[in-house]
Amino acid sequence: MANIVAIVGRPNVGKSTLFNRLIEKRKAIMDDESGVTRDRHYGYAEWTGKHFTVIDTGGYVTGSEDKFESEIRHQVELALEEATVILFMVDSFAGLTDLDKDFAKVLRTSNKPVYLVANKADTTERIHMASEFYALGMGEIYPISSASGSGTGELLDQVVKNF
Ligand code: GDP
Ligand code: MG
Repeated sequence: MANIVAIVGRPNVGKSTLFNRLIEKRKAIMDDESGVTRDRHYGYAEWTGKHFTVIDTGGYVTGSEDKFESEIRHQVELALEEATVILFMVDSFAGLTDLDKDFAKVLRTSNKPVYLVANKADTTERIHMASEFYALGMGEIYPISSASGSGTGELLDQVVKNF
């Protein structure tokens, strides 16, 4: 069976930035102004000799609370269906939000491995701030900076253990 890693999380946390860092060719369409990627994108990645597919979920969320809810469910359900491993990304600069809690609620129902990734942990201070995400009850936190790549090695070491 194929090894598939899905990156999920609310808009603007840095999913596409991590996706672009992980994949061999730049396939995601970045929209820097709005911080959203409308479609799902697939790319191929390799770490320590293990090959896997990465899915960048769109997270195109707009409009009413109802839409938030249905978009989250849709995104997470697709990820749960397809993925072997799920990276649940939050933003350590923005801190914990209600939308993160909504994602966590849905992800907790999954029996697939979920890694809680605190992105934008660019500095030591931000890495420490990321501990607030323990409140999500999702276990260990992986602080990373998708921008610089720091922390991504430690995360991938754990992720590829599933393959
Ligand atoms: P997405 O909506 O979750 O796909 O988020 P994007 O990848 O489009 O990133 C949203 C914004 O966060 C962009 O302006 C990125 O440049 C920025 N960003 C992504 N990763 C990092 C990071 O590790 N550190 C910082 N400081 N900014 C980041
Ligand atoms: Mg995106």
